[in-house]
Amino acid sequence: MAHELPPLPYAYTALESTIDEKTMHLHHDMHHAAYVKNLNAALDKHPELHAKKVEDLLRDLNSIPEDIRGAVRNNGGGHVNHSMFWNIMKPNGGGEPTGPIGDVIKKTFGDFKTFQEKFNAAGVGQFGSGWVWLAGDNKGEVKIISTPNQDSPISQGLNPIFGNDVWEHAYYLKYNNRRPEYLAAWWNVVNWEEINKRFQASAKK
Ligand code: MN
Repeated sequence: MAHELPPLPYAYTALESTIDEKTMHLHHDMHHAAYVKNLNAALDKHPELHAKKVEDLLRDLNSIPEDIRGAVRNNGGGHVNHSMFWNIMKPNGGGEPTGPIGDVIKKTFGDFKTFQEKFNAAGVGQFGSGWVWLAGDNKGEVKIISTPNQDSPISQGLNPIFGNDVWEHAYYLKYNNRRPEYLAAWWNVVNWEEINKRFQASAKK
């Protein structure tokens, strides 16, 4: 019952002009694969935990045996975060969000542009490695948060509706140290259909 690396839902070149092929290969085939491998290695020490969904492991980290708690937090988080990441992007994505996610963004932040500015600022402001998120609660409310390393909003009792990876490995080959430029360009590949599904599932939990 080992956890497995999901294949990319599109070609490695599919997001070119925003995310280059080489970054996609390294990011998916090396970084994400390593999180999966290291998660499985940790769970091998407590095999009864292999049957649990990663999200459930992250939801209650205090219940994880101490000797693997850090490994599950980092590698389980890395696995879930990246599985989300590939799916909330697509070629020829972007544009203004419509449907329920468009509505909740307008209700919460006033308009899409203001939301984007706040999300990008939170991504720029995350010192070192981490993620910037739109996280939801079970009542359908949303907020922008950032997390260090591979920490998941799930461990804070929130649902990760979508997030952007601000680790240098996500952008350094193409954007070098220009994280704000990457954050701004990234909206061109966002998959709002998938994000709408994730928001509707979040509000129902
Ligand atoms: Mn990453």
